[in-house]
Amino acid sequence: MKLIDSHCHLDSEQFDADREAVIERALAAGVEHIVAIGTGDGPPDLEAGVRLADHYAPLYATIGVHPHDASKATDDTYRRLAALAAHPKVVAIGETGLDYHYDHSPRNVQRDVFVQQMLIARDVRKPIVIHTREAWADTIALLTEHWAPSKLGGIIHCFSEGPREAEQALAIGFHISFGGIVTFPKAVGVQEAARITPTNRLLIETDAPYLAPIPNRGKRNEPAFVVETARKLAQLRGAEPDEIARVTGDNFRRLCLGMS
Ligand SMILES: [Zn+2]
Ligand SMILES: [Zn+2]
Repeated sequence: MKLIDSHCHLDSEQFDADREAVIERALAAGVEHIVAIGTGDGPPDLEAGVRLADHYAPLYATIGVHPHDASKATDDTYRRLAALAAHPKVVAIGETGLDYHYDHSPRNVQRDVFVQQMLIARDVRKPIVIHTREAWADTIALLTEHWAPSKLGGIIHCFSEGPREAEQALAIGFHISFGGIVTFPKAVGVQEAARITPTNRLLIETDAPYLAPIPNRGKRNEPAFVVETARKLAQLRGAEPDEIARVTGDNFRRLCLGMS
């Protein structure tokens, strides 16, 4: 089984003591690639993912400003993101989007910084990784207006909505990435979304160190645990875990590496 963890915060200080071992365990568990999300502690540091991808061959990276940090973005941030976007190991821009649960940045600022990153991604012709929480209607509206016409696609990461919302994201060309939440017994809407997502739009992730899947729920998450999420997706979809690994790998390579 060869899996791709399409979303991991490997730069987190929670991995400072054993990052090398975490990567080794992932490779031993069958994880072929890990996408190191580059939002880090926010601007001015934009290279949290790139630094790791430069150092570890199996890693890819993203660059972007998380909605939590939107109020830290400046014109200089956008200039540097545009320059970094061409880095060969940068496979997407993000995670960007809207988070109205925490409201760490004002909502109008979150929306503006979200749109600015869509423009950068469009210019470099790379997909976007979307974080959305309690902001679904605004997220879909902005994506429909500013992103869908590019036809570049993207990823709704750590999908936490239901089947209706999944249909809306699929209709504007998005892939849907499932993480540990899909293994939680009460996440019936997310599980239904996982059943109806077409095979060619399915992705898998950990969002480590957050949201570890059962049976490690509540512990620090790590990329090796993506195997548990693959098992759950297989069960929900009446498939074998190997097949989930194969299709999510193919989808990742097509969307993020431009391989057909
Ligand atoms: Zn997120
Ligand atoms: Zn994340």
